[in-house]
Amino acid sequence: MKGNRTFTMIKPDAVKAGHIGAILAKINEGGFRIVAMKYTKLSAEKAGEFYAVHSARPFYGELVEFMSSGPIVAAILEKDNAVEDFRTLIGATNPAEAQPGTIRALFAKSIGENAVHGSDSDENAAIECAFHFAGTEIYK
Ligand code: ATP
Ligand code: MG
Repeated sequence: MKGNRTFTMIKPDAVKAGHIGAILAKINEGGFRIVAMKYTKLSAEKAGEFYAVHSARPFYGELVEFMSSGPIVAAILEKDNAVEDFRTLIGATNPAEAQPGTIRALFAKSIGENAVHGSDSDENAAIECAFHFAGTEIYK
């Protein structure tokens, strides 16, 4: 059975550009319920840990630097089939390839500075939710 939770971050580029409100509106319109949320900033160490799976990729240094360059909004979202439906809502990693109307098509600048994160599996969603939130910070 597919899980009903995913994890997202509004990335530093979208926060700096003033898109927090518009992106949260798209998330709500997409039928997701926010059950945890914080405005915070990742240290380079934390950003490196979060994206450790990409540590061998050529863009890893740039990714860590970008993700720790400014504040983010981290949130846990609930909906049936959350992981897959949220990936559909945000669109392709590269905004040039993202479907019109998706969050990345609307708000992302480039493949690196692409406005939002979305978990890629139920297993990673659970890991990422626990990385950013204690159980006591989640309200249904
Ligand atoms: P995310 O995990 O942030 O939701 P994603 O799952 O669509 O994004 P991944 O392959 O997991 O894409 O890559 C993680 C992040 O690394 C991307 O969102 C982007 O910020 C950055 N990234 C990926 N590919 C590149 C690239 N070719 N050049 C620069 N940055 C990249
Ligand atoms: Mg990913």
